[in-house]
Amino acid sequence: MGKKARELWKLYEVDYKNMRITFKGRRCPRCGKFMAHHLTPMSRWSCGGCGYTDYERRH
Ligand SMILES: [Zn+2]
Repeated sequence: MGKKARELWKLYEVDYKNMRITFKGRRCPRCGKFMAHHLTPMSRWSCGGCGYTDYERRH
């Protein structure tokens, strides 16, 4: 991985214990809070504020 990839990871907060990634650049379309990226049981984005969930189909 090059410099670009490393810089990109600054936008992420990785919680290895819970297998969760918080992407600091993605906000909830409903309430505007930052969303968390959950890897288990399936890849999805969820908002801790209003409960909005966006399932990812990419793998
Ligand atoms: Zn929300």
